[in-house]
Amino acid sequence: MLGTVLFAPRDVRYVEVQEPKIQKPTDAIIRLSASCICGSDLWPYRGANKFSEPLRMGHEYCGVVVEVGKDVKTVKPGQFVVGSFCLSDNTCPHCRFGFQSSCEQGEFMSGAQAPLARVPLADGTLMATAQMPPDDLIPSLLAISDVLGTGWYAADAARVKPGCTAVVVGDGAVGLMGVLASKQMGASRIIAMSRHKKRQELALEYGATDIISERGEAGIAQILKLTKNIGADAVLECVGTQESMTQALQVARPGSMVGYVGVPHGVTLDAGMLFGSQVGMLGGPAPVRKFLPHLMDLVLTKKINPGKVFDLQIPIKDVAEGYRAMDERRAIKTLLRV
Ligand SMILES: [Zn+2]
Repeated sequence: MLGTVLFAPRDVRYVEVQEPKIQKPTDAIIRLSASCICGSDLWPYRGANKFSEPLRMGHEYCGVVVEVGKDVKTVKPGQFVVGSFCLSDNTCPHCRFGFQSSCEQGEFMSGAQAPLARVPLADGTLMATAQMPPDDLIPSLLAISDVLGTGWYAADAARVKPGCTAVVVGDGAVGLMGVLASKQMGASRIIAMSRHKKRQELALEYGATDIISERGEAGIAQILKLTKNIGADAVLECVGTQESMTQALQVARPGSMVGYVGVPHGVTLDAGMLFGSQVGMLGGPAPVRKFLPHLMDLVLTKKINPGKVFDLQIPIKDVAEGYRAMDERRAIKTLLRV
């Protein structure tokens, strides 16, 4: 079988790899309907995350079950499934508390930029649809696995509520999904921070009411002006840099929450400033499994169209071009046809 391997920074190839097999009785093997490249795949691709051996890439997936281990009860061969990029048993205390991304048995999915993938902890990670979904819904179902689930978590952690004003920092795919989620949760004003025309347009389509193209101090000043110097009721931080975190914290009103889902790279926080601001923070890898039933329903009933975030669709054999396009910001997110 062929699969995607990152050998060194900027050296990603579609090469011969070992075909996945059932290793534990709780595993499932799925045939992917489509795969994609995540913004977080760009960290090792750019050399920002060190790795000592070649990496099997890909953690976003949906597809048809081909085989299950003997202990798997909730999914069976032939069913179409979507799963979280965070693998979970969905039974431990953290899972039952709604934080499947901190599962006691948890690990991260890998190897999904390939035609077949092994999903450990299948019962606690996957969810099957009632019937085979139509092809045109595949991009949106794939999006649930990480990018939509993560944007949703940002809005959930920021406690977006009906009628509130939400600010979304970051116009990458996750930020755009944060806009979609805020709209679904009933925010009446959604301020998206974006400097790119194509991304601004998609943000408006997903429900943004205002676009701020300034960054840093100027961006903060614009948001304070829009909120009559009060600040936002909910802030979604979807980047993970010092600049984006500072922007998020400085536009959040006292008593509000910052939901942060951009993996922090070089971010430090000032406890004195946090104390004075009375702003709360909740973030981390998204517990997508918690949101999976609701998000699948929204997609299958066509209430949302997160799949539109894939503005580049290419055959998986051209995966290297998919990485380049995202690295150079020519594409928001790349879907890989398998
Ligand atoms: Zn668990």
